[in-house]
Amino acid sequence: MGIHLDLMRIAGRWRRSNGELPSDREVIRRRDGDHCWLCGGAIQFEARPNSNAAPSIEHLVPLSRGGSSALSNKVLCHVSCNRDLRNHPLEQKELMRAVRQQKRRKRWRGR
Ligand SMILES: [Zn+2]
Repeated sequence: MGIHLDLMRIAGRWRRSNGELPSDREVIRRRDGDHCWLCGGAIQFEARPNSNAAPSIEHLVPLSRGGSSALSNKVLCHVSCNRDLRNHPLEQKELMRAVRQQKRRKRWRGR
């Protein structure tokens, strides 16, 4: 069962209906959906934390390369995919993403 995301956008900021601030993970999930930024596969939100298919927050431009911690620089991906992305520059990540998602499409066509 998926978690119901009880979020609303109020004055440009995401809020829970009870007024609490949601976690970054919830806001990104609401914005981008349940799929991994890198491989495009479904993220297992109920998986054991830090197991390979569990969600993790990826900074597209790594903090170590001057990236921001704003939500606009964050996406969700699998823990295992996050490990693969490391601190590569964004251009290289985009390339990795294109390759993985192309492989994924080929797999689906082959069925
Ligand atoms: Zn992934």
